[in-house]
Amino acid sequence: MTVNFSTDSDQIKGVTILGSTGSIGVSTLDVIARHPKRYSVVGLSANSRIDVLFEQCLIFQPIFAAVTEERDAKTLAHKLKSAGLDTQVLVGEQGLVQMAENKQCDYVMAAIVGAAGLQPTLAAARAGKRVLLANKESLVMAGRLFMDAVFETGAELLPIDSEHNAIFQSMPLGSVSADANLLAVGVRKILLTASGGPFLNTPIEELSSVTVEQACAHPNWDMGRKISVDSATMMNKGLELIEACWLFNARPQQIQVVIHAESIVHSMVDYVDGSVLAQLGNPDMRTPIAYGLAWPERIDSGVNALDLFSLGTLTFKPPEFDRFPCLRLAYEAMEAGGSSPAVLNAANEEAVAAFLAGQIRFDQIAQVSEEVLGAHSSEAISSISQVLQVDEQARIKANQFIKTLS
Ligand code: NAD
Ligand code: MG
Repeated sequence: MTVNFSTDSDQIKGVTILGSTGSIGVSTLDVIARHPKRYSVVGLSANSRIDVLFEQCLIFQPIFAAVTEERDAKTLAHKLKSAGLDTQVLVGEQGLVQMAENKQCDYVMAAIVGAAGLQPTLAAARAGKRVLLANKESLVMAGRLFMDAVFETGAELLPIDSEHNAIFQSMPLGSVSADANLLAVGVRKILLTASGGPFLNTPIEELSSVTVEQACAHPNWDMGRKISVDSATMMNKGLELIEACWLFNARPQQIQVVIHAESIVHSMVDYVDGSVLAQLGNPDMRTPIAYGLAWPERIDSGVNALDLFSLGTLTFKPPEFDRFPCLRLAYEAMEAGGSSPAVLNAANEEAVAAFLAGQIRFDQIAQVSEEVLGAHSSEAISSISQVLQVDEQARIKANQFIKTLS
């Protein structure tokens, strides 16, 4: 299949997708393919799945394709040339940054997983692009620096994480801006919904023996492995709490996590007059992706209409912190501020990687994060190089502790 993009309109927006071979990347391309008169693809990227990237290039014919390794770049460039494409192959973080900053690119979908997404996502903000933010780790690591870059350049920041997209939709205009103020617009609380993941009702003593497959099998969402494990520990909700604080200029106490196992209400905003506004929909990331692409308009995303009658009942309950210690750690890290959220993020990434590699147990993910965060004294953050240093130190400490466990 080849998508025939129209070139006769000034309105056509050039889109770069950082992490196009992942779950969010593939969903983004699915939405874009439905609207060839609105969007063209400027850049695509992959870490290691070069074959998938090549197939995407054949269909979407981007100007750039970026990969992590020089060796893969050579292979891909050769295959593209043989297929008659003049897509330029870029390498490494610098390649991702170049794609994100390129003049032909209007919108950047930040869909790389983890800390690897920070620099290119920040580059997109600094270049004043519309940033469709799926990579929550950028905000967790460098919230102040990232938001300052957005406000200084006038970049448009559209949250793609389903919860933050729902909050954005339920807030007045200007909820992501330098002068955002929850009290001034009558917001009492943000109600951040969480499915509770696959272990919501598992006896706590059984959490020490759950397998990687069980942890990655999310009941409602089809996602990458790292975020799936984060959902099972609820570190994902913790990272989202931090993300929401930065996006909407909220304090941690202004955000209430609500367990909503059905994942139909994607989050809510509680106003002082007693109104609660919510966004509902089937759990399919193409809805927030289409919203971010088309905002302030609405376009077809390919997602089925929500069938309320077949759902019948929606349930809500408070989270249990002893079942989900990672959620408590995120509140503590955000309260401590400064470098603490970046430390928590780095420790968690290392712990999740060790769990996925079979080196530690599921319940030890929280233990690693708690150990590393507990030993850290928060420092004020003033530069990205400082964030990267803090991140590296936290990873070293996490791996030292992981060795004592495995
Ligand atoms: P995924 O693992 O499916 O895909 C990750 C993408 O990042 C892939 O394209 C991969 O090639 C690329 N990548 C990985 N490591 C890289 C590296 N070191 N350098 C360059 N590229 C690298 O992940 P996903 O589920 O699509 O999640 C992507 C981001 O979106 C994450 O930050 C996640 O928290 C967020 N998010 C995902 C969902 C979802 O439903 N999947 C929902 C909300 C937020
Ligand atoms: Mg989410």
